[in-house]
Amino acid sequence: MQIANQIGSAHSDADKFMDATVRFLSACPICFKEREQRAYTRAALGAFLRAGYKIEGYCTICNEFWQISGQERRELAQRLSPLGDERSG
Ligand SMILES: [Zn+2]
Repeated sequence: MQIANQIGSAHSDADKFMDATVRFLSACPICFKEREQRAYTRAALGAFLRAGYKIEGYCTICNEFWQISGQERRELAQRLSPLGDERSG
């Protein structure tokens, strides 16, 4: 585990890009409002989407976690894709 090393040393644009958190909306199952999610970095989201791991949303009002839907995963995957990004935006 060399977390400090990962955070401290890299300063290239590519690394900043991958370290940036991605904001996306996911609807809370309790209050049904779309909540902005910003817990995941671009790198983490990409890896989770590819591996099929669940991605969680969180509502600060309800203090509730949930798994984002398949539709939301597809939209995220499109946004993260270098090809799909510009056109869909
Ligand atoms: Zn809620």
